[in-house]
Formats: sequence, structure tokens, C-alpha cells
Amino acid sequence: MNNLVRVAVDGPSGAGKSTLARSLAEKLGYLYVDTGAIYRTIGCYVFRRGLDPKDGEAVAAALPDIRVELAYGEDGLQRMRLNGEDVTEAIRLPEISLYASAVSAHPAVRAFLLDMQRDLARRNSVIMDGRDIGTVVLPDAEVKIFLTASPEARARRRCRELELRGTPEPFEQVLKEIEERDWNDTHRAVAPLRQAEDAVLLDTTALNFEESQAALLRIIRERGGA
Ligand code: C5P
Repeated sequence: MNNLVRVAVDGPSGAGKSTLARSLAEKLGYLYVDTGAIYRTIGCYVFRRGLDPKDGEAVAAALPDIRVELAYGEDGLQRMRLNGEDVTEAIRLPEISLYASAVSAHPAVRAFLLDMQRDLARRNSVIMDGRDIGTVVLPDAEVKIFLTASPEARARRRCRELELRGTPEPFEQVLKEIEERDWNDTHRAVAPLRQAEDAVLLDTTALNFEESQAALLRIIRERGGA
């Protein structure tokens, strides 16, 4: 009776996971879950408290004081609340990206957020994007996709995004941050970023948005997801 479909989309920062996953979720009527935003919310708390995000003990000790809530606005977009405050926009600041990446390396943080992510997929058909969705959060997802692109292509896209947002940053700086996050995400001991064995690899370096979207949709359909 349970015919929920779970689509796991993993990959490095800036591969276009969230934009693509969000638009596909809308097309298919699935719930879109951006798990990076959940880690960013923890990063935001640690940043504001002035804690060292690399200090696992200090971060773990702060977890009982953190209430993370995920809700959907009237526009259907995911919103994040931190101890009752809407931090959806605040968590997008560039300094929070590095905090999120650092705090996400701690086992206590990952354990703290695991049930919340699994719960969402228990009640809805979802497209969930992150780093460990196909490997840890939803290991039995019906569809698993590993979305990637070269670091330079990802940095170029991020630069364009930042420009549109009115907060441009130099290409070299953006590329350096992307490489730093890639290193953190693939080298941590717990739930490192890696392609699940049964995931389909999609490299979007040479693809534009429409082509990437069509390729993703094809994979989801081939796997019986839509
Ligand atoms: O996807 P986004 O760039 O917003 O994620 C922010 C950070 O959160 C990533 O650099 C990564 O370190 C961490 N993250 C994670 N596991 C996930 C999603 C994000 O470790 N499932």
C-alpha cells in the first residue's frame, strides 16, 4: 500500500543539486528536502555563539540548546527555523557555508539530524538532496543519483548566482571555497561524500540547466520513479 518514491540526489557543493531537485520535485509533485539547509542551520547557531565549528566536543555540547525545524511556506519553498527564528536567508551567507561543512563532520551532529531527515521521507514521496542521502539517510531509496561537475564549472555557476543575488565574489575565491568544502566533505570519517554503489552518475559539466533536468528526469523514470 506504500507507494512512496524516494529519490536521493547526492554530490559536491555547487553541482546544481538544489535547483534541479527543487524544479523536478515541483514537476513530479514530490516534497523537496534540502538537507544542506539543515546542516547550515546548525552552522548558523555555532557561528552566532562564537564556537569553533571544528571543536567536536563544544559543538556536541551545544546540540541540546538547538531546535531545528523545517517547514514549507505558502509558496511551497522549504524554510528553516532555529530556536523559533526564521533563518532561511541568514544560512545562505558565505561564512555559514564553511561552518556548515565543518560542523557536519561531527558524528554527534549527523546523529542529531538523522531521524528528522528519515521522518520526512516516511510520510512523503521525496527528492532529498545532500551528501549522504543514498549511502546513509535513505540507503534503500528507489532512485539514487550522484550529481557532479568539474570544480571550475561549479565555481562559475556559483559566481553567477552570487552576482544575481547582488553579492559578487571573485572567481578564485569561490573556487577555493568549493575545493575546501569538497576536501572536507570527502575526507571526514563519518558519512563522507561518495557515490553509492547503486547510484547513477550524472556529470553536468557540459550540460545546461534544461539538459541536466531532462537527464535527471530520464534517470528517475528509468528507475520507475515517475
Ligand atoms: O548543500 P549545501 O552546500 O547547502 O550544504 C552545506 C554543507 O552541509 C556541505 O558543505 C556539507 O558539508 C554539509 N552537508 C552534509 N550532508 C548533507 C548535506 C550537507 O554533510 N546531507
